[in-house]
Amino acid sequence: MMQAEMNIGMLGHVDHGKTTLTKALTGKWTDTHSEEIKRGISIRLGYADAYIYHCPKCDLYSSEAKCPKCGGKPKLARKLSIVDAPGHETLMTTVIAATSILDGVLFLIAANEPCPQPQTTEHLLVLNSTGIKNVIIVQTKIDLVTKEKAMENYKQIKAFLKGTVAENASIIPVSANAGLNMDALLRKINEVMKPQPHDEKAPLRMYVSRSFDVNRPGTSVKDLKGGVLGGSIVQGVLKVGDEIEIKPGIVRKEGGKPTSVVCKAQSLMEETEVLESAKPGGLVAVATTLDPSLTKSDALVGSVVGRKGEVPDPVDTLNVKYALLERADMQNMPLRENEPVVVNVHTCTDVGILVKLSKGVATIKLKKPTVAYKDMYVALSRKIGQRWRLSAWGKVV
Ligand code: GDP
Ligand code: ZN
Repeated sequence: MMQAEMNIGMLGHVDHGKTTLTKALTGKWTDTHSEEIKRGISIRLGYADAYIYHCPKCDLYSSEAKCPKCGGKPKLARKLSIVDAPGHETLMTTVIAATSILDGVLFLIAANEPCPQPQTTEHLLVLNSTGIKNVIIVQTKIDLVTKEKAMENYKQIKAFLKGTVAENASIIPVSANAGLNMDALLRKINEVMKPQPHDEKAPLRMYVSRSFDVNRPGTSVKDLKGGVLGGSIVQGVLKVGDEIEIKPGIVRKEGGKPTSVVCKAQSLMEETEVLESAKPGGLVAVATTLDPSLTKSDALVGSVVGRKGEVPDPVDTLNVKYALLERADMQNMPLRENEPVVVNVHTCTDVGILVKLSKGVATIKLKKPTVAYKDMYVALSRKIGQRWRLSAWGKVV
C-alpha cells in the first residue's frame, strides 16, 4: 500500500488528552515507555500510523476501515504518522531536537481548564520559533463542559494565539473519549496537513531512533538476521540494496571512540508495509547486513545514516546560538561556564560541558562525538535538584 506521508507531533499541557487522541487516531497507546521515563531525558519517540478513511457516499471521515454510518467500505484518504513522546520534559526536548522530523503539529488545549496552562504557553513558545507551519488546534474534552463554557474557552484560545504562528490555525472542538466531532478533525487534518514536496535528489539522511537484534537467543549462525535500524528519513530516498554508512557508528571497546560502519540495506519497512524504497514519513525500519550484535539494545541510537562517503564526520564541539527557556515551574538562571548539560540534537542524547559562553553562543564540549548540521535545533538541559530540566535551546552555528 503506502508509506506514511508525514509526521505529525502532538503538543499540549499534561493531561490535555494527547495520548487519548493518539489512541483514537491510530488505535494504539503511545504512552508505554515507562522505562524511558525512568531514564529521564533520553528521547524515545513513539510513532503510530493513523489511517484516515473517507466514505464518499456519506461524505464522512473516520479512522475505521468500515464507514460508521452506512457500514460500507470507505476510501483510504491518508496515512500519517503520529509522533508522541512520553512525559512533559521529553516531549519538549523532542519537539526541539526532532523539529526536522515533524511536518505538522496537533496542538491540544482542554476546554475544561482556563487557557493557557503553563505548558500550553511553553509549547507555543517553542512551536512559534521552530518554523513548523501546519498546525491545527484541537480543543479537547468538550464533553466535560457546557456549550457556553466551550465558547468562553474558545475565545481564550483565540486571544492566546494572537500574534503567533498559530494565529490563523483552525480550532476544532472534539472529545476523543465520547467520539464527538472526530469527523471534523479528520476532515481538517486531511485538508491542512499536506506533505511538503521532498527533494528526492538530496543526499539521504536518516536519524536513528532505535536499533535492535531481531534474532531469538540460540539462533544458529546460518539463520541469523542482520542488525535492524529504526529511524526517520528526513531527506533523500533509501532503496533496498543501497550501500549506507552510519556515523558516528559503533563503539567497539568501552570508553573508545565510535567508528563509522558501512553496510547494505537488505529490506525496508514502515510499520507493517514492506517497501522497495523509503522516503521521509513515519518510522522506517532498515534490515542491514550488519552483525546484529552491533545493533542490539539501541546501540546505534543517535547515529545518522547516509550514503557511503556523504555523512559528515562527527564533531566533539558544538556552537549553539541559544536562548534560555522561560519556565513557569522553576527559576531558570543564566547558563554558567563549566556547567554540565545534557545535549539533544536530532535523536542523539549527549552529555557536555559549557566551555564558553559569549554573545549568546554556547560552546559545548561533548563527551561523545555527534553528527551535527548547521541550523539544526539543539535542546540543552541542566541539573536542577535531582533532575535534568530543559533550560535552553537554540541552533547550531
Ligand atoms: P496527555 O497527558 O496529554 O497524554 O493526556 P491523556 O490522554 O493521558 O488524558 C488525560 C486524562 O484525560 C485521561 O484520564 C483521559 O481519559 C482524559 N481524557 C482525554 N481526552 C478526553 C476527552 O475528550 N473527554 C474526557 N472526558 N476525558 C478525556
Ligand atoms: Zn458511509
